[in-house]
Amino acid sequence: DGKGLIVSFGEMLIDFVPTASGVSLAEAPGFLKAPGGAPANVAIAVTRLGGRSAFVGKLGDDEFGHMLAGILKQNGVNGDGINFDQGARTALAFVTLRADGEREFMFYRNPSADMLLQPEELNLELIRSGKIFHYGSISLIVEPCRSAHLRAMQVAKDAGALLSYDPNLRLPLWPSPEEAREQIMSIWDMADIIKVSDVELEFLTGSDKIDDESAMSLWRPSLTLLLVTLGEKGCRYYTKNFHGQVEAFHVDTIDTTGAGDSFVGALLCNVVEDHSILEDEGKLRKVLKFANACGAITTTKKGAIPALPTEADVLSLIKG
Ligand code: ADP
Repeated sequence: DGKGLIVSFGEMLIDFVPTASGVSLAEAPGFLKAPGGAPANVAIAVTRLGGRSAFVGKLGDDEFGHMLAGILKQNGVNGDGINFDQGARTALAFVTLRADGEREFMFYRNPSADMLLQPEELNLELIRSGKIFHYGSISLIVEPCRSAHLRAMQVAKDAGALLSYDPNLRLPLWPSPEEAREQIMSIWDMADIIKVSDVELEFLTGSDKIDDESAMSLWRPSLTLLLVTLGEKGCRYYTKNFHGQVEAFHVDTIDTTGAGDSFVGALLCNVVEDHSILEDEGKLRKVLKFANACGAITTTKKGAIPALPTEADVLSLIKG
């Protein structure tokens, strides 16, 4: 149909989630295999809501890689931008759910296939056909994937796409906190829309305050919209002309995995249909309420992808 395409670039991997929460990895009685990776979650969040998306990235030519490509396909995500590496294996993450519902990660990446994507392998035609190009920062950590990321971003921008950035900090993956901060900020000026979590705001500003002043220190004239997500407190938004907060929905949270990706997918799904959302505070607040509802619903089920809502789920939470 005529909906604008959202292209999501980066990693897709398998999260091994313990079948019991509040235990260490070694104490886990067993694991569930949960597909994940923020950019892939965002792509599926979009199609679940009835939008159109494509995933661009590299997977291992192994059982896990083909399983992941199959999951994208089953969810209606365009897979024409997926490459398979003949040598390296698909990335794996081991997730520990703490008793409070927050999660901790350990990664298998030495190197994993996603890190080996080369600029020459990019499906440029697909990238140029996107109205929004979304990405994270894990693909900036090493070459050649870093060059592929920078190239894809430039190609999308030159083709007139809006650029959407969720740094999605996974600190243990970076050589050092300084390098993470530097690399994450090095592409700040390219984006039109940036979403950070409260934790990322603290990390990037080096301040322990989560307020307008610290958020505004991440503002650039090149930006159209800066968002700070605050978990159960909702989100704050900043534009050239206005800023404010939209409260979260009260739900029974059991696992917050994917809440931020669900939030971003919901936002992009709306923005791709109507760019004026970015300039009209009333429209923006309505869309952020919708995105908050998506994030909230995602916390009510285990895992990210199985927990991503449909439009009907969201409307039913909003109506109460
Ligand atoms: P991230 O997953 O990137 O850390 P957040 O945890 O802040 O992002 O979640 C993104 C959005 O999802 C929040 O802005 C909020 O609207 C919703 N959300 C997250 N956690 C909860 C919660 N416990 N209760 C209600 N809504 C939540």
